Amino acid sequence: MLAASRSGAARAFAENTSMTRPVVDRFVAGVTADEAVAVAREIALDRLVTIDHLGEDTLDRARADATVAAYRTLLRRLDDAGLADRVEVSVKLSALGHALPHDADKIALDNARQVCEAARAVGTTVTVDMEDHTTTDATLGIVGDLRVDHPWVGAVLQAQLRRTEADCRELAAPGSRVRLCKGAYDEPASVAYRETAAVDRSFVRCLKILMTGGGLPMVATHDPRLIAIARYLADRHAAEFELQMLHGVRPRAQRELAAEGLAVRVYLPYGTEWFGYFMRRLAERPANLTFFARSLLTRG
Ligand SMILES: Cc1cc2nc3c(=O)[nH]c(=O)nc-3n(C[C@H](O)[C@H](O)[C@H](O)COP(=O)(O)OP(=O)(O)OC[C@H]3O[C@@H](n4cnc5c(N)ncnc54)[C@H](O)[C@@H]3O)c2cc1C
Repeated sequence: MLAASRSGAARAFAENTSMTRPVVDRFVAGVTADEAVAVAREIALDRLVTIDHLGEDTLDRARADATVAAYRTLLRRLDDAGLADRVEVSVKLSALGHALPHDADKIALDNARQVCEAARAVGTTVTVDMEDHTTTDATLGIVGDLRVDHPWVGAVLQAQLRRTEADCRELAAPGSRVRLCKGAYDEPASVAYRETAAVDRSFVRCLKILMTGGGLPMVATHDPRLIAIARYLADRHAAEFELQMLHGVRPRAQRELAAEGLAVRVYLPYGTEWFGYFMRRLAERPANLTFFARSLLTRG
């Protein structure tokens, strides 16, 4: 499924059929900025939100520029709706030009800067998603450049990568917003832990570093054990933190944790290019595949 998530043919087929829409809708807020803002408004009644305009691995400069325009529109709509204090945005650099054949770093940085300017203008923040391990250094480099003018830009680190403990040490500083997740990409053993238990242990080691670093750890997991450990460490070190979960995954737990007083932020994607995102969600939880397959068969 992770290989399929990057297949152009499978993507074109799936995104252009309406058969799969009801299943996709569980994870995706809709197609337009207005639909995303409407869902965000509901969630923001008791939680925080980060909205992602779907798209990745863009090989066309015009599409990268269109993504910036989409974020500008989205941020304006959030401001109009009075939601900018509870809703931020997440961006993927490969949607902003980081996968282009020429001047990729420069184009992605310029585009990400424009999104950050638009976010600053309405009083919200941006978090830069992390993609596969071949992009980690360049992504962290761009986050560092963005933070010169916008110190609130959030970074993402993946516990499955062997390098991540060192990256946590580097980034755990006062004011630094760091999202820690397990990692959604199929990575080789040379750079990543392949066993679930080893990823979990790395996650806990990283949490300890982030919770004592004086920044804002953003703990992105649905795993009840890791959530309990994050809460314990935050109590012990009197650290503030955000718990982050994906739209459509454990929604009841999200609401219960928010009711207990935790800052819970929901990652809410929208747009037409849902295929890669959706396939990574299926790969994490093959049980979801049954629903997806059933919808294809019964509607096809
Ligand atoms: C807010 C947020 C932002 C993220 N940003 C990034 C990023 O920038 N880069 C990146 O590589 N990854 C990102 N991820 C994905 C992350 O790396 C994991 O792939 C994903 O969160 C699943 O791992 P888990 O920690 O929830 O643990 P898992 O062990 O996968 O899941 C724990 C439990 O959560 C539930 N669950 C998990 N996934 C699903 C699902 N798809 N459907 C239904 N139930 C599920 C199940 O009950 C499961 O037993 C992000 C995740 C979140 C929540």
